[in-house]
Amino acid sequence: MLVITDNHMHLYNHLRLKALKQFRQAGGTHVFLVSLLSHHYKVNPSSGKDFKAMFDEHIKLVEKANEIVRAYSILSVHPAEITILSKRWGIDKAGEIMKEALEIAGQYVAEGKAVAIKSGRPHYKVSDYTWKVSNEVMMHAFQVAKEVDCAVQLHTERYTKEGMMEIAKMAEKIGIRKERVIKHFSPAKIDEFKELGIFPSVIAIGNNVLKAAQQGDRFVVETDYIDDKERPGSVLGPKTVPKKIAELIQSGFDEGFVAKICRDNIERVYGIELDS
Ligand SMILES: [Zn+2]
Repeated sequence: MLVITDNHMHLYNHLRLKALKQFRQAGGTHVFLVSLLSHHYKVNPSSGKDFKAMFDEHIKLVEKANEIVRAYSILSVHPAEITILSKRWGIDKAGEIMKEALEIAGQYVAEGKAVAIKSGRPHYKVSDYTWKVSNEVMMHAFQVAKEVDCAVQLHTERYTKEGMMEIAKMAEKIGIRKERVIKHFSPAKIDEFKELGIFPSVIAIGNNVLKAAQQGDRFVVETDYIDDKERPGSVLGPKTVPKKIAELIQSGFDEGFVAKICRDNIERVYGIELDS
């Protein structure tokens, strides 16, 4: 069987599990489902423990998803939580809540309920102090991931080599293996990521997947499908990764190449064995 993996997808309030049926119909076999922000679950956290309700709900959904395709759970403490939580608690306490939530996410991974955690720093302009605390939260995520020995997906500002270098140095400082740090929504800059050590999850927009493949096989692919009924199809639809993989094959890349990006790389960065 040809493994076709979407490395970053959400299920929210639009198609829900039907999105995965579409993914499967198009040839998709494996998916990494990432939990959303607290407000998507109508949770108003006053401590990291309040993230448990969201994580539990997400894990239940991933169990159901497993009846359709092979689905894996990633527990996210989204960097934008800093802005939401700061309004009520101030920046310092917001950071503390997020760090505690990341520790709980790590415990879930240790218990086998999820395969990875997600952190990062805001993709929009914030105050210098919020930026500083966000970086501390992200470094805490590296620490948690190192201790649990799991991967950490990152949601960050728009890619620049300098920004990513800074993050790579933080990962080095904590001592987490850099290929376990996966940059979600990556551009097709495979050579640069190889240099940086961080692992790219290439967003399957336009001809990105083909462009990435022309540089090598050190990447995974994703849609960041958001499943929001207000924005249907945003960022990309659930069938996109299987379609882009089919295009790769039409362009002359063989099934071995697809197995490398959709199976071997996934197994390597997450430290798991994919079920067939
Ligand atoms: Zn996402």
